[in-house]
Amino acid sequence: MVKYCPNCGSQLNLESAQFCNNCGTKIIPAEYNREKIESAGKPLTVEFILGLIGGIIGFFAGIAAILFGSLAAAFSVNNASNVIGLGFGAVIFSIIGIVGAAFVKSKTKIAGYLMIISAIGGLICISAFYILSFILLIIGGIMAVRYKE
Ligand SMILES: [Zn+2]
Repeated sequence: MVKYCPNCGSQLNLESAQFCNNCGTKIIPAEYNREKIESAGKPLTVEFILGLIGGIIGFFAGIAAILFGSLAAAFSVNNASNVIGLGFGAVIFSIIGIVGAAFVKSKTKIAGYLMIISAIGGLICISAFYILSFILLIIGGIMAVRYKE
């Protein structure tokens, strides 16, 4: 296999060359490069899955709250419209969480904060309905915020 200098692009004389004969750049061993490429491909999958699943569950929890509120409204229960409004709030917060998950690989920190906002906002809106989403989103969000490039 012919190797090229990563700095100037000139062909290296030896496959095992340690320095470029043209510009003098130190040649990094292939083993080290492969390790770097592998670690660049895999991270943030957990954060993505936590955010996505948390957001989707939260979305349906919000819909459930809206239906529950609508049902209550049909029976003229007090505060039913509040439940509907909070259900819509939870749906919006769940979408924020899904958006966060979608951007977790490109805008990791912002995505993490979006997931945390989604977790807390949804929990405030519909409390127990959102508890599973809250757990998934808060873990994914904190992991993303604390993630080191
Ligand atoms: Zn070179």
